Amino acid sequence: MPYIGGHVSVAGGLHLGIQNAEEIGARAIQFFGASPRMWYAKQPSEQDVALYKEKAKASSVARAYLHAPYLVNLASPDGEMIKKSVKNLSDHLQIAQRIGANGLIFHVGSGKEIPKAEAMERAIEAMSFVLESVPGDVELVIENAAGGGQKLGASAHEIGEMLERIDSPRLKVCFDTAHAFEAGIIESYTPEHIKKLFDEWDREVGMQNIVALHVNDSKTAYNSHHDRHENIGEGHIGLLGFQNLAREARLHDKAWILEVPGFDGMGPDKKNIEILHACFQS
Ligand SMILES: [Zn+2]
Repeated sequence: MPYIGGHVSVAGGLHLGIQNAEEIGARAIQFFGASPRMWYAKQPSEQDVALYKEKAKASSVARAYLHAPYLVNLASPDGEMIKKSVKNLSDHLQIAQRIGANGLIFHVGSGKEIPKAEAMERAIEAMSFVLESVPGDVELVIENAAGGGQKLGASAHEIGEMLERIDSPRLKVCFDTAHAFEAGIIESYTPEHIKKLFDEWDREVGMQNIVALHVNDSKTAYNSHHDRHENIGEGHIGLLGFQNLAREARLHDKAWILEVPGFDGMGPDKKNIEILHACFQS
């Protein structure tokens, strides 16, 4: 069974993310390394880093990723916006490297009014720069987009092009189940559609480059291009979809990270994790 977990709060200190993970039985986690609403990313102190590492080591958390702020746009028509985004992403990647996290998951962004090919050039240059600016083994992880608004990275083909052109062993991919459904690249998570989808992702991206899944049900319809997550089994993907996904052996070595609203509205919880666990037993 893969490492299953979810996005956790680190309010009050990064090490509390580990405590929050243990409380819900998460073995794979994601959190914000610094405020997701600010361009400035405060570096944790040496003490904060040591405390996090100590707690993480003693825990059953096996995979940890940071998530970048949603402000970031590496494909923006505005050069200043790209500069700020590169700086912010580099700072967050630096935090991930310092605390020994596996990587930083981020959304590439949108070229808005500029042609997609030009937006792609901008994003590729910016991603290369971020990787260069933070040496080490920490991974920069592209998340697939829900589509719409000229967003980059909604398809295997686009993400594959980024990987091929940047050609860094540290550039990886996170596959969000809700975004794929909302972007219209999988109509329903049936065994046939799942096989076809990941055959394509294997060709374009390479399954070994997918390191994590964002496991979310969708509040919005297929091809809606509208990104709204739902608890597992409560959305348009449905429980059967996740049971089918659990049978896809090519996904068993990935970190399965929930980003759901939670049954109490407090984010990923024990109940969602248990529902997901049960999908592997069905
Ligand atoms: Zn996601």
